[in-house]
Amino acid sequence: MENKSFSPETICVQGGWNPKKGEPRVLPIYQSTTFKYETSEQMAKLFDLEESGYFYTRLQNPTNDAVASKIAALEGGVAAMLTSSGQAASFYAIFNICSAGDHFVSASTIYGGTFNLFAVTMKKLGIEVTFVDPDAPEEEIAKAFRPNTKALFAETISNPSLVVLDIEKFARIAHSNGVPLIIDNTFATPINCRPFEWGADIVIHSTTKYMDGHATNVGGVIVDSGNFDWDAHADKFPGLTKPDDSYHGLTYTKSFGKGAYITKATAQVMRDLGSIQSPQNAFLLNLGLETLHLRMPQHCKNAQKVAEYLHDNEKVAWVNYCGLKDNKYYELGQKYLPNGSCGVVTFGLKGGRDVSIKFMDNLKLAAIVTHVADARTSVLHPASHTHRQLTDEQLIAAGVAPDLIRFSVGIENVNDIIADIEQALAK
Ligand SMILES: *Cc1c(COP(=O)(O)O)cnc(C)c1O
Repeated sequence: MENKSFSPETICVQGGWNPKKGEPRVLPIYQSTTFKYETSEQMAKLFDLEESGYFYTRLQNPTNDAVASKIAALEGGVAAMLTSSGQAASFYAIFNICSAGDHFVSASTIYGGTFNLFAVTMKKLGIEVTFVDPDAPEEEIAKAFRPNTKALFAETISNPSLVVLDIEKFARIAHSNGVPLIIDNTFATPINCRPFEWGADIVIHSTTKYMDGHATNVGGVIVDSGNFDWDAHADKFPGLTKPDDSYHGLTYTKSFGKGAYITKATAQVMRDLGSIQSPQNAFLLNLGLETLHLRMPQHCKNAQKVAEYLHDNEKVAWVNYCGLKDNKYYELGQKYLPNGSCGVVTFGLKGGRDVSIKFMDNLKLAAIVTHVADARTSVLHPASHTHRQLTDEQLIAAGVAPDLIRFSVGIENVNDIIADIEQALAK
């Protein structure tokens, strides 16, 4: 199927895999590490990136490529690469353009694992991050930039603080500083928001969440819009604009144009670090993607009802969901997420942290799991679980109140979900 001309719903179902005469209708799992050639010369050309083709699954695999191309089409990008996890996607997206001595800026309201990756692990590699409040004025955020700053990073809807990002504002700040805007679009998915349409340059996902949607496999993806002009800032991005010694002096922007960023991420970062998604997982991810356009509206519809129920309940101290009219992010939500945001609602109960934990223990339908954003309703207390490593100060900067309950509304019947909350609150 030619992706470009179709709507998102059609791309979800049929994008990526284009069977020819007599080929399987359903995307096959190419469960093979390696691919056969007839002459040594044919293979050598692949190693030199002179020709494209498959030779080893760490670099490329037809199942993975079909799924990556479906996601690229959904986001409106030019190319994509699957990774073994969302963590690998975040790391590779930055590491593809940053090396020791470089710096990048990130919204402070991000997933706990990403916060730790940026603040602790990347620092050990000599790459420094400055965290900024995404709601701060443009001039304030711009102050975090330095001559060696290489990227700006943020989440469309932050996990778990549910901050809705002003993507256009972030794109302006990034571009006036000559760096790309990288957006983690995990919670919104391209069904509800396509960050490239608002000026983002690169999008990443933890496909583990709504894209897979059934909690069957951990995965990630990096998508490039092809819009950032690396050559206009050639000195900042030598890895893309200067010859690569590991490929006989090839220059990515010269040889691959709009495909430069993803080609380098594949041919260099993935080649050397190897966090590839297995073809089996890519196949499962593809099954999830086939219904993403049906599931997202249902998640949003259910979450809106749950949020409204909590909002009107006297035992609830506060509730955060951008679909509520009195929410801080209602206006931004209407602008960037007019069809709904996601299925995740956060709230705190009167009585604080201990009451919140007791409430969770009494839920029956909603399960306590680390996971979020899948078909089954689940619940988590970030301060005790995902964000356990963060200090109280970091928790506040990440927008995680100590009493915050992260409630991931599934696609069951919403009356059953609300009844479950009701009986747990009664206890
Ligand atoms: C879960 C998550 C990640 C990390 O993804 P994994 O697939 O668990 O490695 C990154 N960003 C966001 C917003 C997430 O929710």
